[in-house]
Amino acid sequence: MSKILNEFLSSNLQDLKDNGLYNEINVVRGANGPVIDIDGEALINLSSNNYLGLATDELLKKAAKDTIDSHGVGAGAVRTINGTLDVHVELEETLAKFKGTEAAVAFQSGFNCNMAAIQGVMDKEDAILSDELNHASIIDGCRLSRAKIIRVNHSDMDDLRKKAREATESGQFKKVMYITDGVFSMDGDVAKLPEIVEIAKAFDLITYVDDAHGSGVMGKGAGTVKHFGLEKEVDIQMGTLSKAIGVVGGYIAGTQDLVDYLKVAARPFLFSTSLTPGDTKAINEAVKMLMASTELHDRLWENGDYLKKGLETLGFNIGNSETPITPCIIGDEKTTQAFSKRLMEEGVYAKSIVFPTVPRGTGRVRNMPTAAHTKEMLDEALEIYEKVGKELNVIS
Ligand code: PMP
Repeated sequence: MSKILNEFLSSNLQDLKDNGLYNEINVVRGANGPVIDIDGEALINLSSNNYLGLATDELLKKAAKDTIDSHGVGAGAVRTINGTLDVHVELEETLAKFKGTEAAVAFQSGFNCNMAAIQGVMDKEDAILSDELNHASIIDGCRLSRAKIIRVNHSDMDDLRKKAREATESGQFKKVMYITDGVFSMDGDVAKLPEIVEIAKAFDLITYVDDAHGSGVMGKGAGTVKHFGLEKEVDIQMGTLSKAIGVVGGYIAGTQDLVDYLKVAARPFLFSTSLTPGDTKAINEAVKMLMASTELHDRLWENGDYLKKGLETLGFNIGNSETPITPCIIGDEKTTQAFSKRLMEEGVYAKSIVFPTVPRGTGRVRNMPTAAHTKEMLDEALEIYEKVGKELNVIS
């Protein structure tokens, strides 16, 4: 065993623990539904991305089981050898319809998809303008592409315009992209896509929207780009299949040429085994369900509005969320962590989010109500919030 590695690991782990930055992982026994079992305690779950409750949907479970029977548990190969099964093609056709684009291509995870697509399209002669609050998978995908990365202040259109002008007028870059989350997961705010598209047109920027938290949530379920009616304007729409869709995976939707190109240039498509058949079929059923009815979407928003109103009435700072994602901004890191711990002791699972995930002094407990929560669950959560809030002097 390497002595250097052992020393490196133990000293880093100790440092993290000493600074309160070591994340203890809670194990959920059984399904990730609106109520979860942690260490034998039933807790109201306000921390999952299972926005529509589809992770435990009976129809999707049956679709997965039947497909395991007909197709097996694994795809057997990467997409370009013989791991493209009929269920993958079917899913990609459904995704293109869902997004209103010519074509779509699925990947094994949302994270993987960002790494694949950003690196597939951009390279070292290019520049990427990237919102400073973009998700880690975007940041890593940008780094992997070796393009010059230019950080843009969060949703600051003047900063974007200025940096787009500088980048394009410098003549240094072959292509310039602007990349942004559609919905920002820490605050629940929405990217200003109409202005972004206008700036992109003026400077011939490639537009890339990661709609991990917008798909199933915005645009009556079809996402943030559809919400603004910009399906023909945004070049690259990315989404996850792991959050509102309830399963696992990611996808890119866009023109046929974009999809054809990614199928030859995106390394995880070429070198990593494709999505399992059971998951693929379940995803297909979930997307079809979202296209057929807005019932789950409507329930999600109703629950989101209910929780928001309740927390605001109690005196909590819920920031500027424009979606069901409801942060409860507490500020100080230690109080935030204590708050989340006390919520859990009282019966609510709502994870604290502190630096470095969010800026120092803006620690928060983030709440993700879903379509699967009942009003009774939300009322109980609000009572616990009130009790813990008063106890820790977060509200008066
Ligand atoms: N993009 C964003 C904005 C995300 O929030 C996430 C998940 N946290 C991902 C991409 C990665 O998606 P997945 O979990 O499906 O890999």
